[in-house]
Amino acid sequence: MASKHVYFFGGKKTEGKATMKELLGGKGANLAEMSNLGMPVPAGFTITTKACQLYYENNKKWPQGLKEQILANLKRLENVMNAQFGNPKKPLLVSVRSGAAASMPGMMDTILNLGLNETVIAGLTAKTGNARFAWDGYRRFIQMFGDVVMGVPHETFEHILEEKKRAVSAKLDTDLSTDDLKDIVARYKDAYKKHTNENFPDDPWQQLVKSINAVFESWNNDRAITYRKLNDIKGLLGTAVNIQAMVFGNMGETSGTGVCFSRNPSTGENKFYGEYLMNAQGEDVVAGIRTPESIETLAKKNKTAYSKLVGLKNKLEKHYRDMQDMEFTIQDGALYMLQTRSGKRTAAAAVKVAVDMVKERLISKEEALMRLEPEQLNQLLHPNFDPQAEKGATVLARGLPASPGAATGRVVFNAEDAEAWAKRGEKVILTRIETSPEDIGGMNVAEGVLTARGGMTSHAAVVARGMGKCCVAGVGALSIVYREKKCTVGSAVIKEGDYISLNGSSGTVYAGKIKTVEPELSGSFSTLMKWADEIRTLGVRTNADIPRDAEMAVKFGAEGIGLCRTEHMFFEGDRIISVRKMILADNKAGREAALKELLPIQRKDFEGLYRAMKGRPVTIRLIDPPLHEFLPADDESQMEMADVLNITLQRVKEKVSELHEFNPMLGHRGCRLGITYPEIIEMQTRAIMEAAINVKRQGIKIHPEIMVPLVGETGEIKLCKQVIEETIAKVFKEQKIKIPYMVGTMIEVPRAALIADKIAEDAEFFSFGTNDLTQMTCGFSRDDAGRFLKEYIEKGIFEKDPFQVLDQEGVGELVIMGIKRGRSARKNLKVGICGEHGGEPRSIDFCHRVGMNYVSCSPYRVPIARLAAAQAVIRQKGKVKFTLDK
Ligand code: ADP
Ligand code: MG
Ligand code: MG
Repeated sequence: MASKHVYFFGGKKTEGKATMKELLGGKGANLAEMSNLGMPVPAGFTITTKACQLYYENNKKWPQGLKEQILANLKRLENVMNAQFGNPKKPLLVSVRSGAAASMPGMMDTILNLGLNETVIAGLTAKTGNARFAWDGYRRFIQMFGDVVMGVPHETFEHILEEKKRAVSAKLDTDLSTDDLKDIVARYKDAYKKHTNENFPDDPWQQLVKSINAVFESWNNDRAITYRKLNDIKGLLGTAVNIQAMVFGNMGETSGTGVCFSRNPSTGENKFYGEYLMNAQGEDVVAGIRTPESIETLAKKNKTAYSKLVGLKNKLEKHYRDMQDMEFTIQDGALYMLQTRSGKRTAAAAVKVAVDMVKERLISKEEALMRLEPEQLNQLLHPNFDPQAEKGATVLARGLPASPGAATGRVVFNAEDAEAWAKRGEKVILTRIETSPEDIGGMNVAEGVLTARGGMTSHAAVVARGMGKCCVAGVGALSIVYREKKCTVGSAVIKEGDYISLNGSSGTVYAGKIKTVEPELSGSFSTLMKWADEIRTLGVRTNADIPRDAEMAVKFGAEGIGLCRTEHMFFEGDRIISVRKMILADNKAGREAALKELLPIQRKDFEGLYRAMKGRPVTIRLIDPPLHEFLPADDESQMEMADVLNITLQRVKEKVSELHEFNPMLGHRGCRLGITYPEIIEMQTRAIMEAAINVKRQGIKIHPEIMVPLVGETGEIKLCKQVIEETIAKVFKEQKIKIPYMVGTMIEVPRAALIADKIAEDAEFFSFGTNDLTQMTCGFSRDDAGRFLKEYIEKGIFEKDPFQVLDQEGVGELVIMGIKRGRSARKNLKVGICGEHGGEPRSIDFCHRVGMNYVSCSPYRVPIARLAAAQAVIRQKGKVKFTLDK
């Protein structure tokens, strides 16, 4: 027997439910769920995602049994609706809608009013007494079918429509008369024939078969593939196909259609939110063809439908325990639900909704924490306009605050230009009359998006919010001339390349650039972070080299510094001269003289860092990179060094080439420098300890953690530690004071992980340097791997770039071994991570599971790490299950 490919929905006959999302797609599963809840959902049936997968496996042919099951369900639908496909007396019209397990807004195409032909129209007109409605439906159907199924360019139809509107002086589609529409249909059909060499199909079954295949095909169109790639959606079977009885929002002024959210998707405010259009059909609201009205005004137009809608949204939100994004249609006063799903929201809204829902006792704190994608927090941590600067800026126009944040950049008028300019390093604002799925690539690289038409649920708004990108939509005053790459607002003319600024939270468009400021991290955000801190067991430190970064990190909740790269201080101002003197010195005396110049500078830097950290632990790594990184490369700086050192330019050049290494990453660097030049360790240790003593005298207690990089053999840590301890003993004696400190090592050479038990005899803490560990374990040069890794990922050899997401299977195994062996020798060995991975959520989950004490990441990622660390605990306890629909 053939497997079940089709599931019916509608009242008591419903076969699916919400949990069957993977098989029925999000749309199908939720239509079934709403039917099960007794809500008014037009009946229909869903062809499974599995059938779509089989279609592709089967050389684009329907799997066995699919046709019979579709026919059987169509019969059932006809019975339920008391209507019949192609029967002019009681015609059944359907929509054909795609819908995969993960929501992909606007990515796949819907066909409405399927089942129409001229015979049916005559019947429909007789039945409804509304010829205009019937012909409007038909022209929409031809347009959608032509575009989606047969690839007739959308513009072909748009031109015909616009031409007609101009000819009869109609401002809106709704101003067109029945005869106008008839004429348009005739021209549409001509255009259809011209492009396809076929007549427009009259047989509803033919229409349906072609449409189903088109939905299957749309799973692999460029837009869908790009969207999945951008959003990292993998492992889905395909798209489901929903065939659903039509309800009509375009039957006149007592009908309408809309999109609404149970809460505000921009701010998270618990207030019903949405838009609708009377006398319109589905796509009109989202496509930005007419600017829709806000949902509250529906109460005035149709009180019953409005209150019913409010009741349903409340019920749905309680049922799904999450903010819902819903589609509805009112047909001659009667309300129908056409879709519900978890609403996409900005990070700010996500945080507010999650925290509010805990307070409303809808969800637990754990669930609230799991509702956020740690990466999303990025949106909240980034700047807004400086209020003072914004006040002084010239307002060009106002539109809808479609996606919050601030953006400054140069105007470009199409997605291609956006990508080209961005490639050159320019910050751009993509400015369009309205956006469509083809613009995704351009939106992705733009700082912000500006549109002249469309509402809060227009394509531009929805996609920008999903990307966390600032967007101002529906700026009616904006008149764009694509051909000339310019636009006008009132008397102002903006040309391609001109700077403008957008405030996506207020919907304002400004001329020129505006200064930005750091965000306030209070309210719901700090509540959520507090909950994360209560739950997480992993510490979160930061990688910071200068006081300003350290202060920022503390503001973001860092509990210490996990990595201070001392050499980063070497480049500032005149210091590099002293550093170069040290490197170029011919002997120890020369080096020591140069180091003497560096000592007070380093000491002062450390004091600053300690003060910023106010007693929190600070791990300082001794000099790490190969020395030639600091050498003068060009003639001018070589000349300068020759002068300073009073040697010939020739000698400087010789010295530089002496230091040349073929493979510096594996060369004279890390502790290897300290082994050959112990005086560098001495100077750095002295600076670290003297600084700690100085701030202690000012009342700040710091226990420095001195970290030796690139250790691979016990002899290395032993020798370095000996120099460190001798120096410290001297400092203590001189200063007549002792303070606690620790000496530890980085584990970044694979050999160190293998002999971690021996290394732990000397090292009091470990910090996994997973950048180098990945480089050396995989044999990928960090500086060169970019060239081929992209292809590795495209070809599926690596699922993720191992420099971004820790390779748990390989590198992770070394980490586990290092921790186990290390702790076998030193039970309470403190272990952390300080590579890029310390700020990456999946890697943080790993760090938690393998028992690290802390992760360390860049300041901006600290909140992300705090949340990810809490999620790791929750996930480990298995308390909250992940769902596909985030
Ligand atoms: P998308 O995934 O792009 O939102 P949908 O399948 O949800 O596509 O449909 C597009 C529009 O058509 C929506 O506004 C939807 O409400 C409307 N629509 C879909 N099916 C029907 C139907 N059976 N009756 C009336 N409107 C419909
Ligand atoms: Mg939809
Ligand atoms: Mg390293």
